[in-house]
Amino acid sequence: MADYDAIVIGAGNGGLAAAATLAGAGASVCVLERHNIPGGCATSFCRGRFEFEVALHQLSGMGTEGNPGPLRFTMANLGVLERVEFIESNDLYRIQIPDRIDITLKTDRKQVVDELSGRFPEEREAIANFFDMLYAYFQELVKAFFLKDPDASPERYPLIYRYSMRSTKDVMDSYFRSPLLKSVITIYWSYLGLPPSRLMFMDFAITLYSYLEYKSYHVKGGSQSISNALADIIVEKGQEIRFNCGVKRILVRDGRAAGVITETGEEISAGCVISNASKITTYVDLIDREHLPGDFFGHLRSSAIGVSALSLYMGLDCPPSEAGITQPTNFISPTEDYERAYECAKTVEVSEDSGLLTCYNYMDPSFSPEGTTIATFVTLKYGEPWMQIKPEEYHEIKFRCGEQMMEILDRVYPGVRGRIEEFEIATPLTHLRYLGHPNGSVYGFDQHPWESSFFTQQKAPIPGLFITGAWAGMGGFQPTYQSGEKVARLALKNIKG
Ligand SMILES: Cc1cc2nc3c(=O)[nH]c(=O)nc-3n(C[C@H](O)[C@H](O)[C@H](O)COP(=O)(O)OP(=O)(O)OC[C@H]3O[C@@H](n4cnc5c(N)ncnc54)[C@H](O)[C@@H]3O)c2cc1C
Repeated sequence: MADYDAIVIGAGNGGLAAAATLAGAGASVCVLERHNIPGGCATSFCRGRFEFEVALHQLSGMGTEGNPGPLRFTMANLGVLERVEFIESNDLYRIQIPDRIDITLKTDRKQVVDELSGRFPEEREAIANFFDMLYAYFQELVKAFFLKDPDASPERYPLIYRYSMRSTKDVMDSYFRSPLLKSVITIYWSYLGLPPSRLMFMDFAITLYSYLEYKSYHVKGGSQSISNALADIIVEKGQEIRFNCGVKRILVRDGRAAGVITETGEEISAGCVISNASKITTYVDLIDREHLPGDFFGHLRSSAIGVSALSLYMGLDCPPSEAGITQPTNFISPTEDYERAYECAKTVEVSEDSGLLTCYNYMDPSFSPEGTTIATFVTLKYGEPWMQIKPEEYHEIKFRCGEQMMEILDRVYPGVRGRIEEFEIATPLTHLRYLGHPNGSVYGFDQHPWESSFFTQQKAPIPGLFITGAWAGMGGFQPTYQSGEKVARLALKNIKG
């Protein structure tokens, strides 16, 4: 008799959502987390009188009670909805490309179409056509994939067949002429970690639609509140979470995942194992190679480790308005050429990088002490060049990059620098340290078509082993919570035999 029905390695979004779903279904489950708090990326940390959100900028897919999005159902199923306050925002984003454009869009299709048409009157018709297509495309996705139409065919779903696998750039080029307009519409490429030329339209369309139709949400207390709520739910159902408890081996017996060995050498048995660690860690470090099919690593080699992040967390000694910040979500890009901005993610230094300045006090004035502001400026960076830095040079380079980010900010928000009371910088190496993921990747693998959740399996090639989280499909909050719920349902079939 095994110690547990399931062991979950890692308490990130995917791991916690999986464990809460299993616990809710009456399975016995033990979560083993290397860090001392739940959440993985979805955590917070304190400096001075500020508690900083690590990762969440805009939560997608929630929708309203009257128009619920898929994440609202997941949060309800998990039991989080009644424990955490989700704050709706009507702000999609503001984009500032100095000397080119400064435009603010709302989470309202008509407002977006009107605002864009006002700025780009010569493309009015194309703008309306594009958003009509986006909405019709999403309806096709819902019917064909989410409702699993058994008669799906190119005739029934022409937009899916025409657009899904094309690049976002290709689709944009087929609708619009103005490079600036295309840049304004495609800024969410940075939430997916690949530039429009390499980003599958399906992923981009789902992301844009999810924010536009289902609004953007802030979480009272930050994403740590969701992580804590999930941890509470697991424990209240009589199940277990152990912190400071890394896993060093997955046990395979008679060809099945049968438990784990922790970093302190304890052996724990289970009917199945769900890994929220990266796929690379899971298959290369935690499992003996002999248990995997011979051609397995060839497939893994075709994947590329995705982007990490460089973040400047700032606690300001004034309200947002005094720092000139007037919106919660502000994309700042020195260039409208996102292909160039993306190339900057492959370097250590910050030059023409696109960045996102999030001001948390807009949605929730109590997010920081009265009269203060928490604002975070984040840009994408691959971990690879950071891995080459000598330890003795790391601190100097980290603070130099922080200074470069500050210079970009200062051009758009003059005077912000003088209002900083506390700050911290997180680099790809910080994420590597806290998450244990290769190169500190925060979105899993680069989001190429073959990594999307339509093509990747959450079932591992070893019976009884499952993968959840960003490395099992798409990165980001909404996809990883959904991935956890989905993997638990797969595991339950395994548990019930
Ligand atoms: C700075 C930053 C900004 C971001 N901004 C956004 C955003 O605005 N919107 C958005 O949607 N997404 C954003 N993301 C991405 C999003 O946060 C992640 O994709 C998502 O949270 C990953 O969830 P996950 O389930 O893959 O688990 P992870 O968060 O990757 O957690 C994995 C957990 O597994 C644990 N673990 C690993 N190995 C072991 C082991 N051997 N034993 C025990 N435990 C182990 C780790 O300690 C960790 O707790 C951001 C991320 C960062 C860091």
